[in-house]
Formats: sequence, structure tokens, C-alpha cells
Amino acid sequence: MNAVEKESSGVKKGAMISVDESIQETILNFFKEALEKKCFDAALIPVRVPAGDSYSWILIQDKSLLKDANPISPIMPVQGAKALSSLTRKGKGDLKIAAIMRPCEIRAAIELFKLEQINLDNVFLFSFDCPGALPLLDYIEDPEKGEKIFNSSYAGNIWNDEPMKPVCKMCDNFSIPNCDLHFGILGFKENNLLLIPNSTKGESILKKMGIASEKNLSDWEKKVDEVRKKKEKIKKETYHNIQPMVEGLDSLLKTFANCIACHNCMSVCPICYCRQCYFDSEVSKFTSENYLLRAEKRGGLRFPSDIILFQSGRMSHMSLSCVSCGMCEDACPVSIPVAQIFSYVADKTQKAFEYQPGRNIGEPLPLKDYKEEELQEIKELVKDFVSQE
Ligand code: SF4
Ligand code: SF4
Repeated sequence: MNAVEKESSGVKKGAMISVDESIQETILNFFKEALEKKCFDAALIPVRVPAGDSYSWILIQDKSLLKDANPISPIMPVQGAKALSSLTRKGKGDLKIAAIMRPCEIRAAIELFKLEQINLDNVFLFSFDCPGALPLLDYIEDPEKGEKIFNSSYAGNIWNDEPMKPVCKMCDNFSIPNCDLHFGILGFKENNLLLIPNSTKGESILKKMGIASEKNLSDWEKKVDEVRKKKEKIKKETYHNIQPMVEGLDSLLKTFANCIACHNCMSVCPICYCRQCYFDSEVSKFTSENYLLRAEKRGGLRFPSDIILFQSGRMSHMSLSCVSCGMCEDACPVSIPVAQIFSYVADKTQKAFEYQPGRNIGEPLPLKDYKEEELQEIKELVKDFVSQE
């Protein structure tokens, strides 16, 4: 059993860590010390590219290389769960790895673990209260300005959602996910932040580093709750605005009228992991005769064709596990609010199955694990249908 399955016993407490130059610097110093003390062998962490206009996931073993890393990067060019999947999909390997990721990335990693696309045996998952991420296009326009805007948006007690991606503004799952250790940075006071162990694996790291977790978390929890309530309100308003864009075929056709079928939204999505996708396969391409017949029947046929089939197919494939990370919207070249749409649909699907992606590593994926009685229900439905014919 993976250690993240075990909840820490008793009332949750955290360790108080004093902030040096910045929150990022403090987290990096913690990682340096943990590497020195051999708590893990390498860290998977975002590092700013030499050109300064983006970030890459780098697996760092040499602690001196951490100087260019930024655990709370202002943008998400690649979803962390995708990076972790590339690293561990074929097995756990010999190295013990610490991956520091946003809560939505951790949730996606848990979903990919359930889908056997990630191996967490030798992985320590670190997370932090996430202030959101900037839209990629805004950042690329002026990276230095982007860095400043992002860093000032979460310094101190009041967080500024305004410059963040739309899905980040409404994200009510921005704090402590199913990780091993969590940095509580929300409302940090007197230059301190919290380090909260969230599993036996996390507790073992703190023990090895000689850090005691004795601090009561009630102030921080209160602050998290306050921000969550605000975000829940924004989410409700956003879903209210998105609803007319997706309900009914005519609305869907209008919403995706500008879609150029580039499939960027699919390529960047951590949950779309299939090696061979139907929509990119030869099976989804038809002969000229077939297209002509369809054009004849409808009076005309749009190219690229089957846009709604692609969008609804993707929705049905991954809406149980969509973690509302916003990668798809960032990657859309024609500014369709894909992530807000998928988040809205996913919310409905997930509520119907009483399922929350990434909430609990032991919670089975509803469409992956069947119960015998559910098959019986389907048998009865088919029987009813046949008898009505
Ligand atoms: S559909 Fe979009 S928001 Fe949902 S998990 Fe995939 S990339 Fe993230
Ligand atoms: S990224 Fe945008 S344009 Fe490309 S397939 Fe997805 S919705 Fe369509």
C-alpha cells in the first residue's frame, strides 16, 4: 500500500518554518537540505528556461542546480502529472523522487495512478496553497512583468485572483490535496510558513530532517476556508455563465464554431493519456465518397469535420477525472473557454457519481471498477428496452 493512503493519526499539526528571502527561496532551501540529508535522491521541479520566457520540469539530483528552480512558477506550460507520468509510467525505478506540484497537478497524478499511468512507490508528493497561474499568453507577452504581477498577487494576507487563469479564479480545491507534505503559505504571518505532513511518508521526511510538527493549524485552516468560500461563489457565477454555452446541440455548435480541430486541448490534458487516440487515428478518417454522401444529406459539410463528435467524445472520456487545471484553455489558439466548459460538464458528471478526482488514492474510478449488481441493473434495463420494442 502506498503511504499516501494512510492518514496521519490524530489532530493534524504542522511545523513553522521561517521565511528567508521569499517563499520560493524557503521551499528551495528546504529541498536542498532534504537532498543533503538523503530524504530523497532527486527533485522534480519547474525551472525557468534560459531564454526566461517559460518553465520546464527538470529532474534535479545536484542541489546546486536548484538555484534556477521555482516551486511556485507563475505559469503551467506542461501539467506536472504529465511530467511525472513520463518519469514513472514504466515502473518506480531506483531513485526516490520528490515532486512539488500544484494541487490540481497532484489530483491529476492520483487519477493517473488509478489508471496505471504513474507509479507512486518511490515518489514523495509535495504541494502548496496555490494562488493560481497566469494565462500563458499574458506571461509570454512580457515575462518579467508576469513574474512581478504573479509574485505580488499572493504576498501577504490578501490574494489577488485578478491576473490568474479563469479556472484558477474559481478553483476551490487550491489547498492541501492528497499529498505527502504541504506548504501552507496562505495568510503566512511574521515571515513564517507552515509545513504540514499529510501522510506517513511525509511524517518520515520531517523526522529525518529533525523538524517537529507541533503548530496548531486552526488559523491557517480558517484562512483557507475563507478563500474557499470566495472561490465557491466565483465558481457558481462562472458555471451560470457557461451553462447556456453547452446545453443543447445548437449551443455546442455555436460555442465550438471557431474550433480548428488542432487537438491542442487534448495533447496538453493530463487525463487524455491514451497512446492511440481514435480522433487522431486512420479509423476516424473517411473516404471522399463518405464525405460527399454526408454533404449531400445535409446540404453541406464543414471541414475539419466532426468537431462536436471530438469535443463530446473527449468530454465523455475524461469528465470523471477532469481536475479543472486549465491546460486545455491555455493551449487553445482560438480562445474557446475549453477548461471552463469541461470543468462545468465534469462537475455535473462527478456529482452524479459522487466522485471527486484525486480526493483519495483508494477511491475507485467509477467507470473502471464495476460492481456485480451494477451489471445486473444494466441487464434489467436492456430487458425492459427489448420488451418495449
Ligand atoms: S479537460 Fe482541461 S481542465 Fe480538465 S483536466 Fe484536461 S486540461 Fe485540465
Ligand atoms: S485547442 Fe481549441 S481549437 Fe484546438 S481542438 Fe481544442 S477547442 Fe478546438
